[in-house]
Amino acid sequence: MLHLNKIIIISGSSGSGKTTLVNYLMLHSEFNLTFSVSACSRQKRPLEIDGKNYFFLSVDEFKEKINNDHFLEWEEVYKDHFYGTLKSSTMSILHSGKNILFDVDVKGARSIKAYFKDQALSIFIKAPTVSIARDRLMQRATESAREINFRINKIQDEIVIGQQMDYQLINDDLTDSKDEIKCVVKNFLDV
Ligand code: 5GP
Repeated sequence: MLHLNKIIIISGSSGSGKTTLVNYLMLHSEFNLTFSVSACSRQKRPLEIDGKNYFFLSVDEFKEKINNDHFLEWEEVYKDHFYGTLKSSTMSILHSGKNILFDVDVKGARSIKAYFKDQALSIFIKAPTVSIARDRLMQRATESAREINFRINKIQDEIVIGQQMDYQLINDDLTDSKDEIKCVVKNFLDV
């Protein structure tokens, strides 16, 4: 029954450590989670795998899918960097009987929450301060200085939208944050 699946939506400001917490949740087999692989039009990073981290598309391919109504939601998160949740992959996870974990930006999180309502739990993760977020992005070193600045400039807007999520987590100490997110998800999934 499709309505029995539960949906976990994780969003966060840049440099919040969101991906680490997403990967941590995925380690828990008792949560019965499948990661929702999004489509995106940015360049693949060195360690990323097409079809596992994202379905990497060109901007034109992405726009064609928008025109053909293939997305449950999509956002141009940064200029020419489109990201979107494919209806087809969401449906196939729902039919498999698994719970879904979405890692999306705040606007995407808001759209998915509006779609699934009480079937979904939206969690927003933020770094303790903007300067800590900047340090984390510099250490990660996967973006150029220009891209890091774009991401930093968006943090304030992300935090405002993040206040609309069901739960907000400040990722200060990673061990504590792991415990906290595990507890929140466990309660919601009732496992
Ligand atoms: P990154 O380039 O760092 O992988 O992702 C940039 C942002 O896009 C992150 O906040 C990520 O969660 C978000 N994102 C990834 N997939 C999707 C999606 O399908 N829809 C939306 N709206 N955002 C996404």
